[in-house]
Amino acid sequence: MAEKPIITKFEFTEFEYTLQDMTRDYNGFNLVYEKGSTLTMKQSVMQVHTSMGITGELLSAMPHTLPILAPYLIGKNALERERIYQDTKRALRQQARMGIAQVDIALWDIAGKYYNAPIWELLGGHIRPLPCYASTPHGDHNGGLDCPEAYADFAEQCLEMGYPAFKIHGWGQSLVDLEIANIHAVGKRVGGKMDLMLDPACELETFGDTVKVGWACDEERFFWLEDPYKDGGISQFAHRKLRQIIKTPLLQTEHVRTLEPHVDFALADATDYLRGDIGYDGITGVMKLAHAAEGLGLDIEMHGPGPAQRHVMTSLRNTNYYEMGLVHPKCEGTVSNVAYTNYEDGLHAVDDKGCVYAPTGPGLGVELNWDYIRAHQTGHFVIA
Ligand SMILES: [Mg+2]
Repeated sequence: MAEKPIITKFEFTEFEYTLQDMTRDYNGFNLVYEKGSTLTMKQSVMQVHTSMGITGELLSAMPHTLPILAPYLIGKNALERERIYQDTKRALRQQARMGIAQVDIALWDIAGKYYNAPIWELLGGHIRPLPCYASTPHGDHNGGLDCPEAYADFAEQCLEMGYPAFKIHGWGQSLVDLEIANIHAVGKRVGGKMDLMLDPACELETFGDTVKVGWACDEERFFWLEDPYKDGGISQFAHRKLRQIIKTPLLQTEHVRTLEPHVDFALADATDYLRGDIGYDGITGVMKLAHAAEGLGLDIEMHGPGPAQRHVMTSLRNTNYYEMGLVHPKCEGTVSNVAYTNYEDGLHAVDDKGCVYAPTGPGLGVELNWDYIRAHQTGHFVIA
Protein backbone atom coordinates (compact mmCIF):
# COMPACT_ATOMS: atom_id res chain seq x y z
CA MET A 1 0.00 0.00 0.00
CA ALA A 2 1.20 3.48 -0.83
CA GLU A 3 2.22 5.75 2.02
CA LYS A 4 -0.68 7.70 3.57
CA PRO A 5 -0.63 11.27 4.91
CA ILE A 6 -0.99 11.06 8.69
CA ILE A 7 -2.11 14.23 10.50
CA THR A 8 0.72 15.54 12.70
CA LYS A 9 -0.17 19.10 13.76
CA PHE A 10 -2.36 22.18 13.33
CA GLU A 11 -0.96 25.66 12.79
CA PHE A 12 -2.73 29.04 12.72
CA THR A 13 -1.27 32.30 11.46
CA GLU A 14 -3.44 35.30 12.18
CA PHE A 15 -3.10 38.48 10.12
CA GLU A 16 -4.77 41.86 9.61
CA TYR A 17 -6.15 43.48 6.52
CA THR A 18 -8.11 46.66 5.99
CA LEU A 19 -11.35 47.40 4.20
CA GLN A 20 -11.46 50.93 2.77
CA ASP A 21 -14.65 53.01 2.85
CA MET A 22 -16.47 50.47 5.00
CA THR A 23 -17.91 50.67 8.50
CA ARG A 24 -20.45 48.81 10.63
CA ASP A 25 -24.06 49.88 10.88
CA TYR A 26 -26.37 50.42 13.88
CA ASN A 27 -25.96 46.99 15.45
CA GLY A 28 -22.21 46.59 15.00
CA PHE A 29 -22.59 43.50 12.79
CA ASN A 30 -23.50 44.55 9.25
CA LEU A 31 -20.73 45.91 7.02
CA VAL A 32 -21.86 49.03 5.16
CA TYR A 33 -20.31 51.77 3.01
CA GLU A 34 -18.99 54.99 4.53
CA LYS A 35 -16.57 57.10 2.55
CA GLY A 36 -13.25 57.64 4.32
CA SER A 37 -13.79 54.96 6.96
CA THR A 38 -11.46 52.02 7.30
CA LEU A 39 -12.15 48.76 9.04
CA THR A 40 -9.33 46.60 10.36
CA MET A 41 -10.27 42.96 9.98
CA LYS A 42 -8.57 39.80 11.22
CA GLN A 43 -8.29 36.49 9.44
CA SER A 44 -6.18 33.36 9.89
CA VAL A 45 -4.60 30.72 7.77
CA MET A 46 -5.32 27.25 9.14
CA GLN A 47 -2.75 24.62 8.20
CA VAL A 48 -3.09 20.88 8.78
CA HIS A 49 0.32 19.24 8.50
CA THR A 50 0.89 15.59 7.64
CA SER A 51 3.66 13.01 7.87
CA MET A 52 4.22 13.19 4.10
CA GLY A 53 4.90 16.93 4.08
CA ILE A 54 1.55 17.61 2.38
CA THR A 55 -0.22 20.50 4.10
CA GLY A 56 -3.90 21.31 3.87
CA GLU A 57 -4.49 25.02 4.20
CA LEU A 58 -7.37 27.45 4.07
CA LEU A 59 -8.40 30.86 5.28
CA SER A 60 -10.27 30.36 8.52
CA ALA A 61 -10.42 31.63 12.04
CA MET A 62 -9.35 28.96 14.51
CA PRO A 63 -12.42 26.88 15.38
CA HIS A 64 -12.96 27.15 19.14
CA THR A 65 -13.58 23.40 19.13
CA LEU A 66 -10.15 22.49 17.78
CA PRO A 67 -8.65 21.74 21.21
CA ILE A 68 -11.45 19.14 21.58
CA LEU A 69 -10.80 17.68 18.12
CA ALA A 70 -7.01 17.75 17.95
CA PRO A 71 -6.26 14.74 20.19
CA TYR A 72 -8.63 12.65 18.03
CA LEU A 73 -7.32 13.97 14.70
CA ILE A 74 -3.57 13.76 15.29
CA GLY A 75 -2.41 10.37 14.07
CA LYS A 76 -5.38 9.86 11.74
CA ASN A 77 -5.08 9.15 8.02
CA ALA A 78 -6.05 12.49 6.43
CA LEU A 79 -7.67 10.70 3.49
CA GLU A 80 -10.38 9.14 5.69
CA ARG A 81 -12.66 12.15 5.38
CA GLU A 82 -15.97 10.32 5.72
CA ARG A 83 -15.08 8.56 8.97
CA ILE A 84 -13.59 11.77 10.37
CA TYR A 85 -16.72 13.71 9.36
CA GLN A 86 -19.00 11.19 11.10
CA ASP A 87 -16.85 11.01 14.24
CA THR A 88 -16.48 14.80 14.59
CA LYS A 89 -20.19 15.32 13.92
CA ARG A 90 -20.93 13.15 16.95
CA ALA A 91 -18.13 14.58 19.09
CA LEU A 92 -19.26 18.19 18.62
CA ARG A 93 -22.97 17.67 19.14
CA GLN A 94 -22.87 19.95 22.18
CA GLN A 95 -20.85 22.62 20.35
CA ALA A 96 -23.38 23.04 17.50
CA ARG A 97 -20.90 21.00 15.41
CA MET A 98 -18.82 24.10 14.69
CA GLY A 99 -15.35 23.26 13.43
CA ILE A 100 -16.25 20.20 11.36
CA ALA A 101 -16.07 22.27 8.20
CA GLN A 102 -12.61 23.76 8.63
CA VAL A 103 -11.10 20.34 9.27
CA ASP A 104 -12.99 18.81 6.36
CA ILE A 105 -11.95 21.49 3.86
CA ALA A 106 -8.31 21.11 4.90
CA LEU A 107 -8.57 17.32 4.42
CA TRP A 108 -9.97 17.81 0.91
CA ASP A 109 -7.04 20.14 0.15
CA ILE A 110 -4.66 17.43 1.39
CA ALA A 111 -6.44 14.80 -0.73
CA GLY A 112 -6.17 16.96 -3.83
CA LYS A 113 -2.48 17.51 -3.24
CA TYR A 114 -1.96 13.80 -2.50
CA TYR A 115 -3.67 12.71 -5.74
CA ASN A 116 -2.35 15.76 -7.64
CA ALA A 117 -5.85 16.76 -8.72
CA PRO A 118 -8.21 19.67 -8.07
CA ILE A 119 -10.99 18.91 -5.59
CA TRP A 120 -13.63 19.13 -8.30
CA GLU A 121 -11.91 16.32 -10.17
CA LEU A 122 -12.09 14.10 -7.06
CA LEU A 123 -15.80 14.98 -6.90
CA GLY A 124 -16.28 13.95 -10.53
CA GLY A 125 -16.93 17.51 -11.67
CA HIS A 126 -15.96 19.35 -14.82
CA ILE A 127 -14.85 22.90 -15.53
CA ARG A 128 -17.74 25.07 -16.65
CA PRO A 129 -18.73 28.72 -16.35
CA LEU A 130 -20.33 29.42 -12.96
CA PRO A 131 -22.92 32.21 -13.34
CA CYS A 132 -22.72 34.77 -10.54
CA TYR A 133 -25.12 37.04 -8.75
CA ALA A 134 -23.80 40.37 -7.57
CA SER A 135 -24.58 40.29 -3.85
CA THR A 136 -24.61 43.69 -2.16
CA PRO A 137 -23.64 44.70 1.36
CA HIS A 138 -26.48 45.96 3.53
CA GLY A 139 -27.95 49.34 2.66
CA ASP A 140 -26.36 52.40 4.25
CA HIS A 141 -27.36 55.98 5.00
CA ASN A 142 -24.02 57.41 3.89
CA GLY A 143 -24.27 58.12 0.16
CA GLY A 144 -23.60 54.59 -1.07
CA LEU A 145 -26.47 52.10 -1.41
CA ASP A 146 -28.65 54.54 0.51
CA CYS A 147 -31.89 54.62 -1.52
CA PRO A 148 -33.83 52.54 -4.07
CA GLU A 149 -32.44 54.66 -6.93
CA ALA A 150 -28.87 53.76 -5.88
CA TYR A 151 -29.69 50.03 -5.80
CA ALA A 152 -31.39 50.25 -9.21
CA ASP A 153 -28.37 52.08 -10.66
CA PHE A 154 -26.02 49.45 -9.28
CA ALA A 155 -28.18 46.59 -10.55
CA GLU A 156 -28.08 48.17 -14.00
CA GLN A 157 -24.29 48.54 -13.77
CA CYS A 158 -23.97 44.86 -12.86
CA LEU A 159 -26.27 43.89 -15.74
CA GLU A 160 -24.06 45.86 -18.14
CA MET A 161 -20.99 44.09 -16.74
CA GLY A 162 -22.59 40.77 -17.70
CA TYR A 163 -24.01 39.62 -14.35
CA PRO A 164 -27.09 37.45 -14.93
CA ALA A 165 -28.45 38.02 -11.41
CA PHE A 166 -28.47 40.55 -8.55
CA LYS A 167 -29.16 40.09 -4.85
CA ILE A 168 -30.21 42.86 -2.52
CA HIS A 169 -29.20 42.87 1.11
CA GLY A 170 -31.44 45.67 2.34
CA TRP A 171 -31.29 47.93 5.35
CA GLY A 172 -31.04 47.07 9.00
CA GLN A 173 -33.75 47.95 11.52
CA SER A 174 -36.67 46.56 9.51
CA LEU A 175 -37.38 49.60 7.33
CA VAL A 176 -40.25 47.82 5.60
CA ASP A 177 -41.55 50.66 3.40
CA LEU A 178 -38.04 51.40 2.15
CA GLU A 179 -37.42 47.69 1.53
CA ILE A 180 -40.62 47.46 -0.54
CA ALA A 181 -39.77 50.62 -2.51
CA ASN A 182 -36.36 49.11 -3.23
CA ILE A 183 -37.84 45.85 -4.54
CA HIS A 184 -40.04 47.82 -6.94
CA ALA A 185 -37.28 50.22 -8.04
CA VAL A 186 -34.85 47.41 -8.85
CA GLY A 187 -37.63 45.26 -10.33
CA LYS A 188 -38.86 48.03 -12.63
CA ARG A 189 -35.30 48.87 -13.77
CA VAL A 190 -33.82 45.43 -14.51
CA GLY A 191 -36.61 42.89 -13.92
CA GLY A 192 -36.94 40.45 -16.81
CA LYS A 193 -33.31 41.11 -17.78
CA MET A 194 -31.64 39.49 -14.80
CA ASP A 195 -32.77 37.28 -11.92
CA LEU A 196 -33.39 39.19 -8.70
CA MET A 197 -33.15 38.00 -5.14
CA LEU A 198 -33.75 39.60 -1.76
CA ASP A 199 -31.92 38.64 1.43
CA PRO A 200 -32.99 40.72 4.44
CA ALA A 201 -30.55 38.58 6.44
CA CYS A 202 -33.14 38.11 9.19
CA GLU A 203 -33.49 41.89 9.77
CA LEU A 204 -37.28 42.14 9.31
CA GLU A 205 -38.92 42.39 12.72
CA THR A 206 -42.12 40.40 12.28
CA PHE A 207 -43.80 37.71 10.22
CA GLY A 208 -46.22 40.45 9.08
CA ASP A 209 -43.36 42.56 7.74
CA THR A 210 -42.20 39.48 5.87
CA VAL A 211 -45.59 38.94 4.23
CA LYS A 212 -45.65 42.55 2.97
CA VAL A 213 -42.11 42.30 1.62
CA GLY A 214 -42.95 38.91 0.08
CA TRP A 215 -45.96 40.37 -1.77
CA ALA A 216 -43.66 43.01 -3.30
CA CYS A 217 -41.23 40.25 -4.38
CA ASP A 218 -44.21 38.46 -5.98
CA GLU A 219 -45.14 41.54 -7.99
CA GLU A 220 -41.61 41.86 -9.34
CA ARG A 221 -41.23 38.09 -9.86
CA PHE A 222 -38.15 37.71 -7.67
CA PHE A 223 -36.17 34.51 -8.14
CA TRP A 224 -35.95 33.94 -4.40
CA LEU A 225 -36.54 35.47 -0.98
CA GLU A 226 -33.96 34.42 1.61
CA ASP A 227 -33.93 34.45 5.42
CA PRO A 228 -36.40 37.30 5.72
CA TYR A 229 -37.07 37.79 9.42
CA LYS A 230 -36.05 37.47 13.00
CA ASP A 231 -36.93 33.86 13.60
CA GLY A 232 -33.30 33.64 12.45
CA GLY A 233 -34.16 31.51 9.43
CA ILE A 234 -34.90 28.36 11.44
CA SER A 235 -38.68 28.06 11.88
CA GLN A 236 -40.05 25.34 9.62
CA PHE A 237 -43.64 26.08 10.65
CA ALA A 238 -43.45 29.81 9.88
CA HIS A 239 -41.78 29.33 6.50
CA ARG A 240 -44.34 26.72 5.48
CA LYS A 241 -47.03 29.29 6.38
CA LEU A 242 -45.17 31.95 4.40
CA ARG A 243 -45.02 29.68 1.35
CA GLN A 244 -48.81 29.32 1.57
CA ILE A 245 -49.21 33.13 1.42
CA ILE A 246 -46.60 34.32 -1.09
CA LYS A 247 -45.53 32.97 -4.49
CA THR A 248 -41.82 33.89 -4.51
CA PRO A 249 -39.62 30.82 -3.93
CA LEU A 250 -37.93 30.74 -0.53
CA LEU A 251 -34.27 29.99 0.04
CA GLN A 252 -33.86 28.81 3.63
CA THR A 253 -31.46 26.61 5.60
CA GLU A 254 -28.39 28.88 5.63
CA HIS A 255 -28.75 28.81 9.41
CA VAL A 256 -29.35 25.15 10.11
CA ARG A 257 -26.43 22.76 10.43
CA THR A 258 -25.76 19.30 8.95
CA LEU A 259 -27.78 16.99 6.75
CA GLU A 260 -30.78 15.91 8.79
CA PRO A 261 -32.18 19.37 9.72
CA HIS A 262 -31.82 20.46 6.06
CA VAL A 263 -33.82 17.49 4.86
CA ASP A 264 -36.40 18.01 7.61
CA PHE A 265 -36.80 21.63 6.46
CA ALA A 266 -37.45 20.58 2.87
CA LEU A 267 -39.83 17.78 3.88
CA ALA A 268 -41.79 20.25 6.02
CA ASP A 269 -42.51 22.28 2.83
CA ALA A 270 -40.63 25.14 4.47
CA THR A 271 -38.23 26.03 1.64
CA ASP A 272 -37.96 25.82 -2.16
CA TYR A 273 -34.16 25.85 -2.49
CA LEU A 274 -31.68 24.39 -0.03
CA ARG A 275 -28.76 26.51 1.16
CA GLY A 276 -25.31 24.92 1.36
CA ASP A 277 -22.79 26.60 3.65
CA ILE A 278 -19.34 25.08 3.20
CA GLY A 279 -17.99 27.15 6.10
CA TYR A 280 -20.33 25.27 8.45
CA ASP A 281 -20.84 21.83 6.90
CA GLY A 282 -17.62 21.42 4.94
CA ILE A 283 -17.31 19.99 1.45
CA THR A 284 -18.28 16.51 2.66
CA GLY A 285 -21.40 17.84 4.42
CA VAL A 286 -22.51 20.09 1.57
CA MET A 287 -22.11 17.29 -1.00
CA LYS A 288 -24.48 15.23 1.17
CA LEU A 289 -26.95 18.14 1.16
CA ALA A 290 -26.61 18.55 -2.59
CA HIS A 291 -27.39 14.91 -3.22
CA ALA A 292 -30.27 14.98 -0.75
CA ALA A 293 -31.65 18.01 -2.62
CA GLU A 294 -31.19 16.18 -5.91
CA GLY A 295 -33.16 13.26 -4.51
CA LEU A 296 -36.03 15.64 -3.77
CA GLY A 297 -35.74 17.23 -7.21
CA LEU A 298 -34.55 20.50 -5.67
CA ASP A 299 -31.58 22.82 -6.19
CA ILE A 300 -28.94 23.82 -3.67
CA GLU A 301 -27.33 27.27 -3.65
CA MET A 302 -23.89 27.83 -2.11
CA HIS A 303 -23.49 30.54 0.49
CA GLY A 304 -20.81 33.15 -0.17
CA PRO A 305 -17.82 33.17 -2.50
CA GLY A 306 -14.60 31.21 -2.17
CA PRO A 307 -12.48 28.52 -3.77
CA ALA A 308 -14.23 25.62 -2.00
CA GLN A 309 -17.62 26.92 -3.17
CA ARG A 310 -16.35 26.95 -6.76
CA HIS A 311 -15.04 23.39 -6.53
CA VAL A 312 -18.38 22.12 -5.21
CA MET A 313 -20.54 24.14 -7.59
CA THR A 314 -18.67 22.99 -10.68
CA SER A 315 -19.26 19.40 -9.53
CA LEU A 316 -23.06 19.67 -9.31
CA ARG A 317 -25.95 19.86 -11.75
CA ASN A 318 -28.67 21.05 -9.37
CA THR A 319 -27.39 24.55 -8.56
CA ASN A 320 -27.91 27.94 -10.18
CA TYR A 321 -25.69 30.79 -9.01
CA TYR A 322 -22.38 31.65 -7.36
CA GLU A 323 -22.66 34.38 -4.72
CA MET A 324 -20.20 37.10 -5.69
CA GLY A 325 -20.18 39.28 -2.65
CA LEU A 326 -20.28 41.48 -1.02
CA VAL A 327 -19.92 43.89 -3.94
CA HIS A 328 -20.60 47.62 -3.92
CA PRO A 329 -20.48 50.36 -6.57
CA LYS A 330 -18.08 52.58 -4.62
CA CYS A 331 -15.69 50.26 -2.84
CA GLU A 332 -14.11 46.94 -3.50
CA GLY A 333 -12.28 44.81 -1.06
CA THR A 334 -12.49 41.28 0.16
CA VAL A 335 -9.87 39.30 1.99
CA SER A 336 -9.26 37.14 -1.06
CA ASN A 337 -7.70 40.05 -2.91
CA VAL A 338 -4.81 40.29 -0.45
CA ALA A 339 -4.56 36.75 0.87
CA TYR A 340 -4.03 34.91 -2.43
CA THR A 341 -1.60 35.33 -5.31
CA ASN A 342 -3.67 33.47 -7.91
CA TYR A 343 -7.30 33.86 -6.89
CA GLU A 344 -9.76 36.65 -6.33
CA ASP A 345 -13.38 37.43 -5.75
CA GLY A 346 -14.97 40.85 -6.08
CA LEU A 347 -17.14 42.92 -8.41
CA HIS A 348 -14.61 42.77 -11.27
CA ALA A 349 -13.57 39.14 -10.81
CA VAL A 350 -16.17 37.91 -13.34
CA ASP A 351 -15.88 37.53 -17.11
CA ASP A 352 -18.06 39.49 -19.54
CA LYS A 353 -20.88 36.98 -19.05
CA GLY A 354 -20.77 37.39 -15.27
CA CYS A 355 -19.16 33.99 -14.72
CA VAL A 356 -16.22 32.60 -12.77
CA TYR A 357 -14.45 29.24 -12.90
CA ALA A 358 -13.14 26.78 -10.35
CA PRO A 359 -9.37 26.79 -9.76
CA THR A 360 -7.48 24.05 -11.62
CA GLY A 361 -4.47 23.41 -9.39
CA PRO A 362 -4.21 20.49 -6.94
CA GLY A 363 -6.49 20.60 -3.88
CA LEU A 364 -8.20 23.96 -3.48
CA GLY A 365 -5.87 25.18 -6.21
CA VAL A 366 -5.07 28.50 -4.57
CA GLU A 367 -1.75 29.95 -3.45
CA LEU A 368 -1.60 32.02 -0.32
CA ASN A 369 0.22 35.35 -0.40
CA TRP A 370 2.63 34.58 2.41
CA ASP A 371 4.56 37.82 1.85
CA TYR A 372 1.43 39.78 2.71
CA ILE A 373 0.34 37.43 5.50
CA ARG A 374 3.74 37.45 7.25
CA ALA A 375 4.07 41.23 6.89
CA HIS A 376 0.67 41.67 8.59
CA GLN A 377 0.90 38.80 11.05
CA THR A 378 -0.74 39.43 14.45
CA GLY A 379 -0.67 35.98 16.00
CA HIS A 380 0.59 32.41 15.68
CA PHE A 381 -0.61 29.22 17.35
CA VAL A 382 0.31 25.53 17.06
CA ILE A 383 -1.44 22.38 18.32
CA ALA A 384 0.71 19.26 17.97
MG1 LIG B 1 -27.94 34.92 3.28
